[in-house]
Amino acid sequence: MEKTNTNEMMIEFDSYTCNEAFARVAVAAFCTQLNPTLEEVADLKTAVSEAVTNAIIHAYDEKVEKIRIICKIVAHDMYITVIDHGKGIPDVDKAMEPLYTTKPQLERSGMGFAFMEAFMDEITVVSEPGKGTQVHMKKRVGIGTSPFV
Ligand code: ATP
Ligand code: MG
Repeated sequence: MEKTNTNEMMIEFDSYTCNEAFARVAVAAFCTQLNPTLEEVADLKTAVSEAVTNAIIHAYDEKVEKIRIICKIVAHDMYITVIDHGKGIPDVDKAMEPLYTTKPQLERSGMGFAFMEAFMDEITVVSEPGKGTQVHMKKRVGIGTSPFV
């Protein structure tokens, strides 16, 4: 296959709490090829961590199901999609408001989506009740270095 300026990977794992750390490290490892700054790596890890935690806690209500992450690098843009097939979000706009949470009893602060928005350049959430949720995020990483060597 000819070299292009894209590079893609996909992982799928069980929705155990312990896999939240695995997921953020896996994405961080994949992005090292872009020579990210430490701050950029920390931002990506936080965003992935929030999206995966949401799938574990909200989508599957502690049941163990699959979570998939697709990462795609296009030049210096890192695209990350976190996919679950859990209960879905009835009102995405409302869910994304800072401090909105449906699990205050678990001491959630309702800041997960706000962090994802703050640390990534773009975020789009597509969700269908009963079918699941896809969180699409994008961030420009490692500007000034040359990928695909
Ligand atoms: P925090 O992230 O601060 O611990 P939180 O998870 O409640 O609290 P957000 O991450 O901003 O806050 O999510 C807001 C709300 O959106 C959640 O309370 C939940 O109702 C809903 N939600 C988020 N992700 C999902 C998902 N993957 N499936 C179903 N519902 C979700
Ligand atoms: Mg959350």
